[in-house]
Amino acid sequence: MGTARRLILVLIVLIALASSTAYYATQMSLRDGAVRERVMGWLAVGLMSSVCALVLIVIWRSLGKTVQIVRHQLLTLEGSGEVGLIMVDSHDELGQMVQEFNRYLTRIKSRIEQLKLQKRELDIQIRVADAEKRHTEAIIFSISDAVLVTDSFDELVLANESAERTFGFTMSRMYRQPMARIINDSEFVKLVTDTRSENTERRRRVVEYSRQVAGEKRTFNVTLSGVMDAKGECNGVVAVLHDVTREKEVAAMKTDFVSNVSHELRTPLSSIKAYVEMLVDGEAEDETTRREFYDIIQNETDRLGRLIDNILNISRIESGVVKIHKEPLALTSVIKDALEVARPQAVAKRIQLVDELTPVFYQVLADRDMIYQAILNLLSNAIKYTPDGGRVTIRTVVDEGKKTVRTEIKDTGVGIPPEDMPRLFEKFYRVESSKKMAKGTGLGLSLVKHIVETVHAGEVGVFSKVGQGSTFYFQVKLAD
Ligand code: ADP
Repeated sequence: MGTARRLILVLIVLIALASSTAYYATQMSLRDGAVRERVMGWLAVGLMSSVCALVLIVIWRSLGKTVQIVRHQLLTLEGSGEVGLIMVDSHDELGQMVQEFNRYLTRIKSRIEQLKLQKRELDIQIRVADAEKRHTEAIIFSISDAVLVTDSFDELVLANESAERTFGFTMSRMYRQPMARIINDSEFVKLVTDTRSENTERRRRVVEYSRQVAGEKRTFNVTLSGVMDAKGECNGVVAVLHDVTREKEVAAMKTDFVSNVSHELRTPLSSIKAYVEMLVDGEAEDETTRREFYDIIQNETDRLGRLIDNILNISRIESGVVKIHKEPLALTSVIKDALEVARPQAVAKRIQLVDELTPVFYQVLADRDMIYQAILNLLSNAIKYTPDGGRVTIRTVVDEGKKTVRTEIKDTGVGIPPEDMPRLFEKFYRVESSKKMAKGTGLGLSLVKHIVETVHAGEVGVFSKVGQGSTFYFQVKLAD
C-alpha cells in the first residue's frame, strides 16, 4: 500500500477516534454535568486535530517534494530538447505514476530513434536523388539540341536553354504550365500530346518539324519518346529537337555542287572536243582560223585546269597535305600575270580592267601559285558578277607601319545582299540572286580564304552594296 494511502487511513482512524472521544465526553458531561469530562473531550478533539494537521503537513510536504523533483527534471529535459526519463526515489502512487510515465517515455524515445534513423536514410536518398537530378539536368543543359520534358497532364517540367531559345520562353516562369500555353504552335503541341496518348508501340518516333527561330526558318528532326512508369503507363514525353537546317543546306549544296562541277567540266570539255573535231575534219581552212581554234582550245583547257585546281587545292589545304613553297616575291608581278589571264574574259564583256599597283620592290613571302590562284579567282569573280561595260580595278596599298600589303579588287557589279555576306566564304555557298548571272561552284572564295588565312596567315574581306558593286580585299605581311 502506498504511503499516501496509508497516511489517509491513519488519518481516518484518528478522526474517527477523536470524534467518538469527543462524542463520548459530550454525552458524559450532559448526563453528569461534569465539566471535567467535557474539557477532556475537547482536549482529545484538539489533540486529534493537531495530529491530523501534522499528518496532513507531512503528506503535503512529501508529495510536494516529489512533484518538485518531477517538475525540475521535466524543465531540465525541456531545456535540453531531449526525451529522457524522470528519476524519483519514491514508491508511492506518484512514484508508480512516474514509472508508468517513464515506460511511456521510453517507448516514445525508441520511436523517435527509429524515426531519426528513417529520416537520416531519407535525407541520404534525397541528397543522392538531388545529385542525380542535377547531374541529369547538367547533361540536358549542356547539349545543343533543344530538350523538352512534359508530365502526364502535358505540362512542361523541364526544358534546356536551347529549347527556351527555339520556342521563345523562360523555363523558370513556365514550370508546370500547360504546353499549349507556352508553345504557340498547335502542330508541335499535338506531336507531344499524341505521343503521350498513343499506344505503347508507337511511343518513340522521329518526325521532321520546321519553325521560325529568330526570324529564320529552321528545320528539326524531333525525337519524341514516352516516359513509361512501372505499370506501363505513359506519364510524360521527352522531345529532343535536333537542328538539321545546316545539314539539309549542305546536302542541297553538295547536290548543286555535283551538278555545277559536272556542268563546269563539261562546258570547256565540249568546246575543246568540238574544236578538235573541226581541226581533225579539216574545217579550219586557213592558218588564221586554225590559230583561232588553237587559242580557244588553250583557253578552255586552262579554264578546265583552273576548276580542277580549285577543287584539288581546297581539299588539299583542308586535309593539310598541300606542299607550300614560300618565297619572297613581288605581288605586283603576280597580279600582272593574273590580269593577262583574266583579260580575255573582261574583253568578252567589254569590261575595263584598271590596275593601280605599287612598285615591284615591295615583296611578300608567299607561295606564288597559290597567291596567283587567289588573285585570279577574285578577278574572275569581279568580271563574272559585273554586267557588260562595267569596270574592275585592282590596286595594292602598302602599310609601311604595319608592314602589310593590301590588295583590293573593286568592281561596278551587282553587289551582294547583306544577309549573304556572313556565309560568302563558305564552301559551295552561292548568292541566290546572282546564281543566274554566271555559272560557278561556290568554291572560289572558300579557296581564297584558305590560301590567304590558312596558308599566309593573312586576312580576307569584302565590302559591297547591292546594285553598286563590291570590293574584295586581302592583306598579307610584307617580306623582311
Ligand atoms: P562561284 O563559283 O559561284 O563564283 P565563289 O566562291 O567564287 O563561287 O563565290 C561565291 C558567291 O559569291 C558567288 O556565287 C557570287 O554569288 C558571290 N560573289 C563572289 N564574288 C562576287 C562579286 N565580285 N560580286 C558579286 N557577287 C560575288
